[in-house]
Amino acid sequence: MEQVTVLGATGSIGVNTLDVMARHPDRFRAFALTAHTRIDLLAQQCRQWRPRYAVVANQQDARRLAQSIANGSRARATEVLWGEEGLIEVAAHPDAGTVMAAIVGGAGLVPTMAAVHAGKRVLLANKEALVMAGELFMEGVRRCGATLLPIDSEHNAIFQCLPSGYRGDPQGAGIRRILLSASGGPFRTIELEQLRLVTPDQACAHPNWRMGRKISVDSATMMNKGLELLEACWLFDVAPSQVDVVIHPESIVHSLVEYVDGSLLAQLGNPDMRTPIAHALNWPQRLVSGVAPLDLIGVGALNFSAPEQARYPCLGLARAAAQAGKDYPVALNAANEVAVAAFLDGKIGFCRIAEIVAETLHGWVASEPRDLAAVQASDARARGAALAMLA
Ligand code: NAD
Ligand code: MG
Repeated sequence: MEQVTVLGATGSIGVNTLDVMARHPDRFRAFALTAHTRIDLLAQQCRQWRPRYAVVANQQDARRLAQSIANGSRARATEVLWGEEGLIEVAAHPDAGTVMAAIVGGAGLVPTMAAVHAGKRVLLANKEALVMAGELFMEGVRRCGATLLPIDSEHNAIFQCLPSGYRGDPQGAGIRRILLSASGGPFRTIELEQLRLVTPDQACAHPNWRMGRKISVDSATMMNKGLELLEACWLFDVAPSQVDVVIHPESIVHSLVEYVDGSLLAQLGNPDMRTPIAHALNWPQRLVSGVAPLDLIGVGALNFSAPEQARYPCLGLARAAAQAGKDYPVALNAANEVAVAAFLDGKIGFCRIAEIVAETLHGWVASEPRDLAAVQASDARARGAALAMLA
């Protein structure tokens, strides 16, 4: 029986993870569930799963959750913890083997790193943590013997297309390049002049995937693909120049690996995160996920094209940050988080997101992030710079 901690259990990835686990009650137990908001949903999950721990943001929410669990439950109580300390405790707890890292944004960095340092099997959805701490993250995985399995559908696809046991050295493995597929988001075909006027709800109405609001906006700007480029470089030990983005509106081919002999390997499937989640939960064995088999004849045609630079300036910004290295990716991610939150709050227009990120990077005084504290300091500095642009 595998004991699983789900960081961000109430989010889109968290709910899908519990959905897959529920199909295999003889294989997986929820050891700890965490949430920041949606305490009612967390209470419901705790009544169903009866985890050893639940973690919320603060003491007040902890009291509310404990009360709400007690109201409907039988038998064993869940211990409720709170704050970052609570997250670290459950992420590193010796009694859990697997940690699903599915908190959104930089808030996931410290608990995800705690799971890495405790040598867990880390299922990584929280791409922002890897973007921010790349080198420290991968060094921690190696030093502490963690097993890192990508949940992002593209990276999970690439992982499946790489030679088994691949541990870096793309040249030795005969890899020419990696192709990240991108749906193009909800604004792939609208007139460029109309982009300024789009609303948060329009930006969050993704054509193929149902996701949290932050990543949905990132998909609309294609910052998501930019973050994924950085993610791919760290996960698979490739240079930014070896990663290309291809627009594929059907979201059926989840990404591809091109080899020197002319082979192009792809992983295909219906766009449903339960496939990569099931793959990582039980890797190297396969698991029934609840996802319907792909009907190729029903799909009929698959389309591919190049991304337009003018439509997706965030992609170029992310590539530039990847090439510049140091703590440029930290600044990129932090400015983007601030700008996306402001857009979702109705404070700025859609096109301001890329402008704020560009201005933050333009004025950035870079440094080498040697430890987690330095990453956090760069993150705070970039957030400050981006916030000042909103004022
Ligand atoms: P979501 O907004 O639906 O859920 C986020 C979860 O994190 C929630 O449980 C929330 O309570 C928790 N959370 C939010 N802020 C927090 C904070 N400050 N401290 C602690 N917990 C906090 O997001 P999501 O769509 O599930 O995405 C989660 C992560 O997975 C993101 O990094 C995203 O990029 C990545 N991802 C998501 C998908 C997808 O299909 N949703 C696909 C690929 C990658
Ligand atoms: Mg993705």
